[in-house]
Amino acid sequence: MVTSRSRSDTLSGVMIETEPKTVELLAMLPQEMIPVMETMGVPRFHARQIFKWIHQRGINDPTLMTDLPKSLRQQLIGMRLTWPAMVSAVHRADDNTRKLQVRFNDGCAVETVLIPEGSKLTQCISSQVGCAVRCRFCRSGSEGFVRNLSAAEMLSQVALARESYLPGERLTNVVLMGIGEPLHNFTNSLRTIEILNHPDGLDLSYRRITLSTVGIVKGIDRLAEATAGKLALAISLHAADNATRAHLVPGVKSSVEEIMAALQRFGLPKRQRFTIEYVLIKGVNDSPRDARALVKLLSHLKVKINLLPLNPHDRTDLEPPDEATVLAFQQLLLDKGFSVYLRRRRGDEISAACGQLLATK
Ligand code: SF4
Repeated sequence: MVTSRSRSDTLSGVMIETEPKTVELLAMLPQEMIPVMETMGVPRFHARQIFKWIHQRGINDPTLMTDLPKSLRQQLIGMRLTWPAMVSAVHRADDNTRKLQVRFNDGCAVETVLIPEGSKLTQCISSQVGCAVRCRFCRSGSEGFVRNLSAAEMLSQVALARESYLPGERLTNVVLMGIGEPLHNFTNSLRTIEILNHPDGLDLSYRRITLSTVGIVKGIDRLAEATAGKLALAISLHAADNATRAHLVPGVKSSVEEIMAALQRFGLPKRQRFTIEYVLIKGVNDSPRDARALVKLLSHLKVKINLLPLNPHDRTDLEPPDEATVLAFQQLLLDKGFSVYLRRRRGDEISAACGQLLATK
């Protein structure tokens, strides 16, 4: 076991991450496993082999790790190499989007979604049980915050979803965009990213891992430092004026100007852009005036804009705009030279679309 002290992340004065975290072998980087190998009295290079088995080949049963000496396999059996989770439900949509409910050892559950698109397979993972931000349109935050997920619990979503791959599928992208605000669980989110990115693991480059945040300024600054500004970052903006945003995204105290300043500091590589997520809601943020405010706010940044007409669900009275309003909003942004994508709803019939995932406790 390795123990690391995590820093505190606060939201509206509520401490969200305060306790030192115990890191399980399943959520250790190879270099962190080396002291464990030394304690076990085996050569250090076995750390890399074990990491490869777990994260590259998706095998965590020590008896199958055939290139390890038998005595080491025997010792590993006695350690915690079982994912702290199980898949408790799988739903498949007609377009092969799959939503998995993943239940952890304490009975809490989150949802994770596999989204195929051509040769790409993207997995959207959750970072918390519930969410303290409580965006007005989001089903995931409707019951408030329960707890952070450990890195092993976040990685278990990736590991367990392998069983649901279709023949020939391979994971190409991961988005931290499911239930929770990943920057309120900074330490564990970053560890998850580092493990997904590791060349002896899935080797997903930072461009293939997207962290989506409502705009936690301190977290954005820490992430820039930790990933040299190379991680793909999506900002769930939803409004360009502070009053509308405070109404839609009540758990964030930073102004839109402060969030934009954090993006300016991020140090994005030349050919990369930020993604701006904008859920369009009838009568709330869908007018030409709202679009013009967005143009003004984003004019100094390299961005692509994803417009997402609200996905209706049972926990909100808000509605999506009609098609003509959506297209007019998009056109205004296009006319100003922005790349604007109208997001197709994926997995709508299984409630796997953005803002529809649900945690249980
Ligand atoms: S949209 Fe994201 S940040 Fe907002 S409540 Fe839902 S999970 Fe939390």
